[in-house]
Amino acid sequence: MDDCIFCKIAKGSIPCNKIYEDGELLAFHDLNPQAPLHFLVIPKKHIPNVMELESADAPLLGRLLHKAQELAAGLGCAETGARFVINCKADGGQTVDHLHCHVLGGRALGWPPG
Ligand code: AMP
Ligand code: ZN
Repeated sequence: MDDCIFCKIAKGSIPCNKIYEDGELLAFHDLNPQAPLHFLVIPKKHIPNVMELESADAPLLGRLLHKAQELAAGLGCAETGARFVINCKADGGQTVDHLHCHVLGGRALGWPPG
């Protein structure tokens, strides 16, 4: 998608504070962190949101969640835990229309969300 900021980050035309990259996935620190550790894991493929997932995307999303877990553990959250969040569309609070998993850690987070 030409006008998608996360596609531009995935292609390297907009910089990011990169944590991990492979052929399918990219992880980078959130620009506006909401916890001591706050990073995003995205598929390089432009999937707008969870509602537009197709069954063929299931392996990719499985890899994405497993990579999020691996990175969170490597960044100090293995014992304390973390929150893995995917906001979806307006009611879910999604502001960037390219599917991404937030990983928040390093402090105890409240529940329920406001
Ligand atoms: P969401 O509201 O779930 O769509 O989350 C979008 C997230 O992307 C927010 O937490 C933003 O702070 C973050 N974000 C937006 N632009 C950038 C960027 N260029 N680099 C890193 N994070 C970004
Ligand atoms: Zn995109």
